[in-house]
Amino acid sequence: MKVPMLDLSEQYQELKSEVLAALDEVMSSSRFILGDHVKKLETDVATYSNVKHGIGCGNGSDAIHIALQAAGVGPGDEVITTPFTFFATGGAVARAGAKPVYVDIDPVTFNIDPSKIEAAITPNTKAIIPVHLYGQMADMDPIVEIAKKHNLVIVEDAAQAIGAKYKGKSVGELGTAATYSFFPTKNLGAYGDGGMIVTNDDELAEKMSVIRVHGSKPKYYHHVLGYNSRLDELQAAVLNVKFPHLDKWSTLRREKAETYTRLLNEALGEKVVTPVEVEGNYHVFHQYTIRVPQRDELQKYLNEQGVQTMVYYPLPLHVQPVFKDLGYKEGDFPESEKAANEAISLPMFPELKQEQQEYVVSKIVEFFKK
Ligand SMILES: *Cc1c(COP(=O)(O)O)cnc(C)c1O
Repeated sequence: MKVPMLDLSEQYQELKSEVLAALDEVMSSSRFILGDHVKKLETDVATYSNVKHGIGCGNGSDAIHIALQAAGVGPGDEVITTPFTFFATGGAVARAGAKPVYVDIDPVTFNIDPSKIEAAITPNTKAIIPVHLYGQMADMDPIVEIAKKHNLVIVEDAAQAIGAKYKGKSVGELGTAATYSFFPTKNLGAYGDGGMIVTNDDELAEKMSVIRVHGSKPKYYHHVLGYNSRLDELQAAVLNVKFPHLDKWSTLRREKAETYTRLLNEALGEKVVTPVEVEGNYHVFHQYTIRVPQRDELQKYLNEQGVQTMVYYPLPLHVQPVFKDLGYKEGDFPESEKAANEAISLPMFPELKQEQQEYVVSKIVEFFKK
């Protein structure tokens, strides 16, 4: 048996006629830039996030960059975030001209540890970016409290967490703004790149929508330095077909996660650490990530047995070569470094079959018997 990390083909077959009709509609109308499909998705995703505004952009990385820039983050400012995330989180901070300041993670959730944030705050701190990694929201209550106390902006990096909830609140409701990615592998994936910012702040929303069109307002008059980063109309048309299915897909992901956890715990007990959904959270399992000390050997074995896995992420941001001028070194964030050595994500997508999951777990069990 072969089990891929992700297989989008079944989903496409189910939606094919609707997707092709939506694409045909855009092409027949010849309205390719910021048309009705983008507007509809912006409205729907904002409503879904329980906030007023959605601003479609070129991708999830630009969404973070634009949100920071609109909030006034720039050269001389510091932005606190976690080093255990995809590069784009730290990259967007640096591209905005600010300095990423890293804070270690909570080993249970892999998300930023709020108890370590205040020690990293300086007079230059302007913002915090909690990353809702693998589909579970960071512990927002203490983060919101710290942000209030120190007058900081919160930009939630929710690239992996559309549909997640924290104590009944949606992504975007507690932060100043939240950013989504519609990269094809994300829980709501386009057929190319796409992203969106959601916010309740009228003034910020206006700034963001100007920055994504070269800072142009009125047209051809530029008061701020923007760039070209719009959500493509064709991608929005695809996303509008997919969006009504998102909650059903999240439910299915949660069912797959439960199955993995049950099978793994029954067979292996303490040998593998299965993911924890913290009380009050609604985890949407963008990834199903376990921890195993013999991670690299396990990955190699599973690969030989036809089971594809991924390591998100093998090298934390504080030790990435591109950030060496920030002055961090190995050992600065032990929990992030440990997670980078132990985390392994198993195949996860809504159409994953029970037999496939049983096969994956049986191969993990086999590995531990060797
Ligand atoms: C995918 C991702 C991004 C970037 O999104 P793109 O659309 O690929 O630019 C940012 N942060 C995290 C945590 C991600 O997983």
